[in-house]
Amino acid sequence: MAKYCKYDHPGEVTKKVGDSRTCIQMRRGREDIEKFLIWELVHGEINFWKDKWCPTDHLEPLQQDKEEDLLVKDCWSGNEWSEDALNTILKESSAERISKIHFDRNKKDQIHLIKRTSSSLSKDIQNSIFRGDNCQCNIFTCKKFLTPSMLFFSWRVLNDLIPTDDILKLKGLKVISRCHLCKNNQEFSDHLFFSCRFSRDVWKHLTSKFNLNLINVGRGNIKENLKDWQEINLMSLPFSVAWFLWNARNNVKYEDIGTNPNSVGSNCQAYLQKLISWKKFHKILKNLPNIELKQLKVIKVRWEKPPYPFIKINTDGSFTNRKAGIGGIFRDHTSKVLLYFKAPYIAADALDTEATALYWALNFSMEIQWNKINAEVDSYLLVDLITENTLPPWHII
Ligand SMILES: [Zn+2]
Repeated sequence: MAKYCKYDHPGEVTKKVGDSRTCIQMRRGREDIEKFLIWELVHGEINFWKDKWCPTDHLEPLQQDKEEDLLVKDCWSGNEWSEDALNTILKESSAERISKIHFDRNKKDQIHLIKRTSSSLSKDIQNSIFRGDNCQCNIFTCKKFLTPSMLFFSWRVLNDLIPTDDILKLKGLKVISRCHLCKNNQEFSDHLFFSCRFSRDVWKHLTSKFNLNLINVGRGNIKENLKDWQEINLMSLPFSVAWFLWNARNNVKYEDIGTNPNSVGSNCQAYLQKLISWKKFHKILKNLPNIELKQLKVIKVRWEKPPYPFIKINTDGSFTNRKAGIGGIFRDHTSKVLLYFKAPYIAADALDTEATALYWALNFSMEIQWNKINAEVDSYLLVDLITENTLPPWHII
């Protein structure tokens, strides 16, 4: 953002020769969304003339020559508006209206959506932008059955904004194209989502699990066959399948995580089952008498004090593809915290982080000579390894 607004206020950045695609898209996005946003006055560190913090007709300047960098807080005196400051820059009627606007310097800075409809700002923005009237190809009708990320992804698919190799080539990038799912073809979206051997297997998985009748649906290009999907009332289906295929492709390409059609098919299946049971996704449910959703089992876990003279250590490890961390906390029989630790860690997998967190906790205990220890971890596998129910993998030994 800072890169694109180096010389201008974000609300005033205009079209320039040589603007990048990102810059053009951000400007378009601003035009769509700025009418819905307004700043709440808190610290007042927003531009008096250029940011939107009150109706624009409230700001009639006294002189044409305005101080461009004036901040709202410059017109405050303590917790009140400074009448002198307002009267030197605004016409009398404007100054009077502004002086009635309430502000609270103790709250957190935040931007507001003028018409809030839900508790989530991103959902509200999505609702505001993806309204039926300005939404291409009626993607809006899928809103109920797609997450906001999926909906945005679908919009990108329909606008050829998914960076498949063919699109990158159109942009002038030299790429050696290869489909990361079948490794046997060039990559373009129609191939990736329908004709690829891998995606055909995913579709096969779904049609057999859900008894889908797709005989009359053209499956070559999402955009061109959208009407077919619409007619059988399943417009969101190709987009959700494409979303899971796209994620699998990205995992292979960028994270080097292997995948197979069965696991992608199962992800799609699980998602569809959720839609059927929670969002009333009628059409498939009618055709499918045998869906059995696995009942989730909820186990309540509560921390309990250790008996005297034991000290309880609770350890945990977190692990993602890119980073890992370990931590632990020591508490006595009165729940008093005696010690805690946390550290980043380079791990092979989640079990590695869990085991390492416990190892360090026990190590600390030995050094401090706390000899009566209760250890609690949240990994069943680790408990099994320690109690020797399971043989450990080599890297844990
Ligand atoms: Zn392929």
